[in-house]
Amino acid sequence: MEKLSNPQVTIATIKKYDFSFQKKFGQNFLIDEHVLNKIIAAAGVTKDDMVLEIGPGFGTMTQYLCENAREVVAVEIDKELIPVLNDTLSEYDNVTVINDDILKVDIDGLINERNGGKPVKVVANLPYYITTPIIMGLLEKHVPVDNITVMVQKEVALRMQAKPGTKDYGALSLAVQYYAKPYIAANVPPNCFIPRPNVGSSVIRLNLFDKPPVEVGDEKLMFSIIRASFNQRRKTLQNSLVNGGLPFTKEQICEALSEMGIAATIRGEALSLEQFAKLTDLLKNA
Ligand code: SAM
Repeated sequence: MEKLSNPQVTIATIKKYDFSFQKKFGQNFLIDEHVLNKIIAAAGVTKDDMVLEIGPGFGTMTQYLCENAREVVAVEIDKELIPVLNDTLSEYDNVTVINDDILKVDIDGLINERNGGKPVKVVANLPYYITTPIIMGLLEKHVPVDNITVMVQKEVALRMQAKPGTKDYGALSLAVQYYAKPYIAANVPPNCFIPRPNVGSSVIRLNLFDKPPVEVGDEKLMFSIIRASFNQRRKTLQNSLVNGGLPFTKEQICEALSEMGIAATIRGEALSLEQFAKLTDLLKNA
Protein backbone atom coordinates (compact mmCIF):
# COMPACT_ATOMS: atom_id res chain seq x y z
CA MET A 1 0.00 0.00 0.00
CA GLU A 2 1.25 3.47 -0.79
CA LYS A 3 1.80 5.53 2.36
CA LEU A 4 -0.91 7.73 3.89
CA SER A 5 1.61 10.60 4.00
CA ASN A 6 0.73 10.95 0.32
CA PRO A 7 -2.33 13.29 0.56
CA GLN A 8 -4.05 11.44 -2.31
CA VAL A 9 -3.94 8.18 -0.32
CA THR A 10 -5.42 9.90 2.75
CA ILE A 11 -8.18 11.45 0.61
CA ALA A 12 -8.93 8.04 -0.96
CA THR A 13 -9.11 6.50 2.55
CA ILE A 14 -11.58 9.19 3.71
CA LYS A 15 -13.77 8.34 0.70
CA LYS A 16 -13.41 4.56 1.03
CA TYR A 17 -14.61 4.62 4.65
CA ASP A 18 -16.91 7.64 4.28
CA PHE A 19 -15.00 8.94 7.29
CA SER A 20 -16.19 12.07 9.15
CA PHE A 21 -13.57 13.89 11.21
CA GLN A 22 -14.52 14.26 14.88
CA LYS A 23 -13.64 17.67 16.24
CA LYS A 24 -14.26 16.43 19.80
CA PHE A 25 -11.35 13.96 19.37
CA GLY A 26 -8.95 16.61 18.00
CA GLN A 27 -8.60 14.84 14.67
CA ASN A 28 -6.09 16.53 12.36
CA PHE A 29 -4.20 13.94 10.35
CA LEU A 30 -0.67 14.47 9.04
CA ILE A 31 -0.12 14.44 5.29
CA ASP A 32 3.53 15.48 5.01
CA GLU A 33 6.29 12.93 4.56
CA HIS A 34 9.02 15.43 5.45
CA VAL A 35 7.40 16.18 8.84
CA LEU A 36 6.89 12.47 9.57
CA ASN A 37 10.55 11.71 8.86
CA LYS A 38 11.52 14.60 11.13
CA ILE A 39 9.40 13.24 14.00
CA ILE A 40 10.89 9.74 13.70
CA ALA A 41 14.42 11.19 13.60
CA ALA A 42 13.73 13.54 16.55
CA ALA A 43 12.41 10.62 18.62
CA GLY A 44 15.54 8.57 17.76
CA VAL A 45 13.44 5.45 17.16
CA THR A 46 15.49 2.28 16.49
CA LYS A 47 14.79 -1.43 15.97
CA ASP A 48 15.49 -1.95 19.71
CA ASP A 49 12.55 0.21 20.73
CA MET A 50 9.00 -0.35 21.79
CA VAL A 51 7.00 2.74 20.87
CA LEU A 52 3.73 3.81 22.41
CA GLU A 53 1.72 5.90 19.95
CA ILE A 54 -1.20 7.93 21.26
CA GLY A 55 -3.99 8.50 18.72
CA PRO A 56 -2.87 6.78 15.48
CA GLY A 57 -5.81 8.19 13.46
CA PHE A 58 -5.60 6.53 10.00
CA GLY A 59 -2.19 5.10 10.95
CA THR A 60 -0.10 7.63 8.99
CA MET A 61 2.67 7.96 11.57
CA THR A 62 2.15 4.35 12.70
CA GLN A 63 3.36 3.17 9.26
CA TYR A 64 6.65 5.03 9.78
CA LEU A 65 6.95 3.81 13.37
CA CYS A 66 6.41 0.16 12.35
CA GLU A 67 9.25 0.45 9.85
CA ASN A 68 11.65 1.94 12.37
CA ALA A 69 10.76 0.35 15.74
CA ARG A 70 10.78 -3.21 17.06
CA GLU A 71 7.21 -3.01 18.29
CA VAL A 72 4.46 -0.40 18.23
CA VAL A 73 1.43 -0.20 20.51
CA ALA A 74 -1.09 2.40 19.33
CA VAL A 75 -4.01 3.53 21.49
CA GLU A 76 -6.96 5.08 19.63
CA ILE A 77 -10.21 6.24 21.24
CA ASP A 78 -12.36 6.45 18.10
CA LYS A 79 -13.88 3.04 17.32
CA GLU A 80 -14.68 4.16 13.75
CA LEU A 81 -10.93 4.19 13.10
CA ILE A 82 -10.31 0.56 14.10
CA PRO A 83 -11.39 -1.03 10.76
CA VAL A 84 -9.41 1.65 8.91
CA LEU A 85 -6.29 0.85 10.96
CA ASN A 86 -6.73 -2.91 10.34
CA ASP A 87 -6.56 -2.05 6.65
CA THR A 88 -3.80 0.60 6.57
CA LEU A 89 -1.52 -1.38 8.91
CA SER A 90 -2.20 -4.85 7.43
CA GLU A 91 1.36 -5.08 6.03
CA TYR A 92 2.95 -4.81 9.48
CA ASP A 93 3.22 -7.64 12.03
CA ASN A 94 4.82 -5.55 14.79
CA VAL A 95 1.84 -3.38 15.71
CA THR A 96 -1.01 -3.75 18.21
CA VAL A 97 -3.95 -1.34 18.14
CA ILE A 98 -5.88 -0.82 21.37
CA ASN A 99 -9.30 0.86 21.18
CA ASP A 100 -9.35 2.88 24.40
CA ASP A 101 -9.00 6.30 25.98
CA ILE A 102 -5.29 6.83 26.72
CA LEU A 103 -6.20 8.56 29.99
CA LYS A 104 -7.78 5.29 31.18
CA VAL A 105 -5.09 2.87 30.01
CA ASP A 106 -2.77 1.25 32.58
CA ILE A 107 0.38 2.32 30.72
CA ASP A 108 2.70 0.96 33.41
CA GLY A 109 1.05 -2.47 33.14
CA LEU A 110 1.26 -2.34 29.35
CA ILE A 111 5.00 -1.56 29.42
CA ASN A 112 5.62 -4.29 31.99
CA GLU A 113 3.80 -6.84 29.90
CA ARG A 114 5.22 -5.84 26.49
CA ASN A 115 8.67 -4.49 27.26
CA GLY A 116 9.60 -6.23 30.51
CA GLY A 117 9.25 -2.86 32.29
CA LYS A 118 12.09 -1.35 30.22
CA PRO A 119 11.59 2.28 29.14
CA VAL A 120 9.64 2.89 25.93
CA LYS A 121 9.50 5.88 23.59
CA VAL A 122 6.24 7.79 23.33
CA VAL A 123 5.63 9.30 19.91
CA ALA A 124 2.41 11.04 18.91
CA ASN A 125 0.62 13.74 17.02
CA LEU A 126 -1.43 14.54 20.12
CA PRO A 127 -5.10 15.49 20.25
CA TYR A 128 -4.67 19.13 21.32
CA TYR A 129 -7.68 19.18 23.68
CA ILE A 130 -5.90 16.87 26.15
CA THR A 131 -2.19 17.58 25.54
CA THR A 132 -1.45 18.65 29.12
CA PRO A 133 -3.24 15.81 30.97
CA ILE A 134 -1.58 13.23 28.70
CA ILE A 135 1.94 14.61 29.15
CA MET A 136 1.61 15.38 32.87
CA GLY A 137 0.06 11.93 33.43
CA LEU A 138 3.12 10.25 31.89
CA LEU A 139 5.54 12.46 33.84
CA GLU A 140 3.86 12.46 37.25
CA LYS A 141 3.15 8.74 37.35
CA HIS A 142 6.84 8.00 36.66
CA VAL A 143 5.90 5.64 33.83
CA PRO A 144 9.08 4.00 32.40
CA VAL A 145 9.61 6.31 29.42
CA ASP A 146 12.90 7.23 27.75
CA ASN A 147 11.65 10.20 25.78
CA ILE A 148 8.35 11.72 24.68
CA THR A 149 8.32 13.21 21.17
CA VAL A 150 5.01 14.81 20.35
CA MET A 151 3.28 17.27 18.06
CA VAL A 152 1.52 19.91 20.15
CA GLN A 153 0.08 23.36 19.64
CA LYS A 154 3.04 25.73 19.03
CA GLU A 155 2.00 27.96 21.94
CA VAL A 156 2.04 24.98 24.32
CA ALA A 157 5.51 23.91 23.11
CA LEU A 158 6.79 27.43 23.80
CA ARG A 159 5.31 27.34 27.30
CA MET A 160 6.90 23.95 28.04
CA GLN A 161 10.42 25.13 27.23
CA ALA A 162 10.12 28.74 28.51
CA LYS A 163 12.73 30.16 30.89
CA PRO A 164 12.07 32.40 33.96
CA GLY A 165 11.24 36.03 33.21
CA THR A 166 9.69 35.37 29.79
CA LYS A 167 6.02 35.81 28.87
CA ASP A 168 5.50 32.10 28.17
CA TYR A 169 6.95 30.98 31.53
CA GLY A 170 4.43 29.51 33.96
CA ALA A 171 3.24 26.47 35.92
CA LEU A 172 3.46 24.22 32.83
CA SER A 173 7.11 25.22 32.16
CA LEU A 174 8.06 24.38 35.75
CA ALA A 175 6.08 21.13 35.85
CA VAL A 176 7.62 19.85 32.60
CA GLN A 177 11.15 21.04 33.43
CA TYR A 178 11.05 19.30 36.82
CA TYR A 179 10.78 15.95 35.03
CA ALA A 180 12.38 16.50 31.62
CA LYS A 181 14.57 18.61 29.37
CA PRO A 182 12.43 19.96 26.52
CA TYR A 183 13.67 20.70 23.01
CA ILE A 184 11.60 21.97 20.07
CA ALA A 185 12.58 19.86 17.04
CA ALA A 186 10.36 21.44 14.35
CA ASN A 187 7.63 23.97 13.70
CA VAL A 188 4.83 22.65 11.53
CA PRO A 189 2.35 24.82 9.57
CA PRO A 190 -1.41 24.03 9.32
CA ASN A 191 -1.17 22.91 5.67
CA CYS A 192 0.62 19.71 6.76
CA PHE A 193 -2.68 18.34 8.14
CA ILE A 194 -6.14 17.29 6.95
CA PRO A 195 -8.26 19.09 8.09
CA ARG A 196 -6.05 22.13 8.75
CA PRO A 197 -5.95 23.15 12.44
CA ASN A 198 -6.43 26.87 13.10
CA VAL A 199 -3.20 27.06 15.13
CA GLY A 200 0.48 26.48 14.39
CA SER A 201 2.07 23.27 15.68
CA SER A 202 5.48 22.21 16.96
CA VAL A 203 7.23 18.91 17.55
CA ILE A 204 8.70 18.86 21.03
CA ARG A 205 10.98 16.21 22.49
CA LEU A 206 11.09 15.73 26.26
CA ASN A 207 14.14 13.86 27.53
CA LEU A 208 13.19 12.45 30.91
CA PHE A 209 15.62 12.91 33.81
CA ASP A 210 16.67 9.93 35.94
CA LYS A 211 16.20 12.25 38.90
CA PRO A 212 14.79 15.79 39.10
CA PRO A 213 17.29 18.66 38.64
CA VAL A 214 16.38 20.11 42.08
CA GLU A 215 15.80 18.52 45.47
CA VAL A 216 12.65 19.36 47.40
CA GLY A 217 11.21 17.84 50.57
CA ASP A 218 7.55 17.93 49.46
CA GLU A 219 6.97 17.74 45.69
CA LYS A 220 3.20 18.07 46.02
CA LEU A 221 3.48 21.21 48.15
CA MET A 222 5.95 22.73 45.65
CA PHE A 223 3.44 22.32 42.81
CA SER A 224 0.65 23.85 44.95
CA ILE A 225 2.93 26.83 45.61
CA ILE A 226 3.78 27.09 41.88
CA ARG A 227 0.10 26.97 40.88
CA ALA A 228 -0.80 29.63 43.46
CA SER A 229 2.08 31.83 42.24
CA PHE A 230 0.81 31.88 38.67
CA ASN A 231 -2.95 31.93 39.34
CA GLN A 232 -3.09 35.70 39.26
CA ARG A 233 -0.23 36.67 36.98
CA ARG A 234 -0.57 40.40 37.52
CA LYS A 235 -0.25 40.16 41.31
CA THR A 236 3.06 40.10 43.13
CA LEU A 237 4.33 36.70 44.23
CA GLN A 238 3.73 37.66 47.85
CA ASN A 239 0.06 38.58 47.26
CA SER A 240 -0.57 35.50 45.10
CA LEU A 241 0.82 33.23 47.81
CA VAL A 242 -1.04 34.97 50.65
CA ASN A 243 -4.35 34.69 48.75
CA GLY A 244 -3.58 31.31 47.14
CA GLY A 245 -5.34 29.07 49.68
CA LEU A 246 -2.04 27.67 51.00
CA PRO A 247 -1.75 26.45 54.62
CA PHE A 248 0.57 29.33 55.66
CA THR A 249 0.06 32.68 57.35
CA LYS A 250 0.98 35.97 55.69
CA GLU A 251 3.83 36.32 58.22
CA GLN A 252 5.27 32.89 57.37
CA ILE A 253 5.17 33.71 53.65
CA CYS A 254 6.75 37.16 54.06
CA GLU A 255 9.46 35.74 56.30
CA ALA A 256 10.35 32.94 53.85
CA LEU A 257 10.53 35.39 50.93
CA SER A 258 12.66 37.82 52.88
CA GLU A 259 14.99 35.01 54.00
CA MET A 260 15.53 34.21 50.32
CA GLY A 261 16.21 37.90 49.59
CA ILE A 262 13.11 38.15 47.37
CA ALA A 263 11.65 41.68 47.16
CA ALA A 264 7.93 42.10 47.99
CA THR A 265 7.34 43.50 44.48
CA ILE A 266 8.59 40.44 42.56
CA ARG A 267 6.15 38.38 40.43
CA GLY A 268 6.03 34.58 40.21
CA GLU A 269 7.49 34.50 36.71
CA ALA A 270 10.85 35.77 38.02
CA LEU A 271 11.48 32.64 40.14
CA SER A 272 13.44 29.62 38.90
CA LEU A 273 12.59 25.99 39.69
CA GLU A 274 15.47 25.98 42.18
CA GLN A 275 14.01 29.02 43.99
CA PHE A 276 10.54 27.43 44.12
CA ALA A 277 12.13 24.31 45.65
CA LYS A 278 13.94 26.42 48.28
CA LEU A 279 10.80 28.44 49.06
CA THR A 280 8.88 25.17 49.52
CA ASP A 281 11.46 23.81 51.98
CA LEU A 282 11.49 27.06 53.96
CA LEU A 283 7.68 27.17 54.21
CA LYS A 284 7.44 23.46 55.04
CA ASN A 285 9.79 24.03 58.01
CA ALA A 286 8.21 27.35 59.05
N1 SAM B 1 -1.55 10.17 14.48
C1 SAM B 1 -2.52 10.61 13.47
C2 SAM B 1 -1.84 11.49 12.47
O1 SAM B 1 -0.81 12.07 12.81
O2 SAM B 1 -2.32 11.61 11.35
C3 SAM B 1 -3.73 11.31 14.11
C4 SAM B 1 -3.45 12.48 15.03
S1 SAM B 1 -4.86 13.36 15.56
C5 SAM B 1 -4.15 14.94 15.92
C6 SAM B 1 -5.19 12.77 17.22
C7 SAM B 1 -5.70 11.35 17.31
O3 SAM B 1 -5.90 11.03 18.69
C8 SAM B 1 -7.04 11.10 16.63
O4 SAM B 1 -6.98 9.91 15.89
C9 SAM B 1 -8.03 10.96 17.79
O5 SAM B 1 -9.16 10.15 17.49
C10 SAM B 1 -7.14 10.34 18.87
N2 SAM B 1 -7.59 10.59 20.25
C11 SAM B 1 -8.26 11.66 20.73
N3 SAM B 1 -8.47 11.55 22.06
C12 SAM B 1 -7.90 10.38 22.44
C13 SAM B 1 -7.79 9.70 23.69
N4 SAM B 1 -8.30 10.21 24.83
N5 SAM B 1 -7.17 8.49 23.71
C14 SAM B 1 -6.64 7.95 22.57
N6 SAM B 1 -6.72 8.56 21.36
C15 SAM B 1 -7.33 9.76 21.29
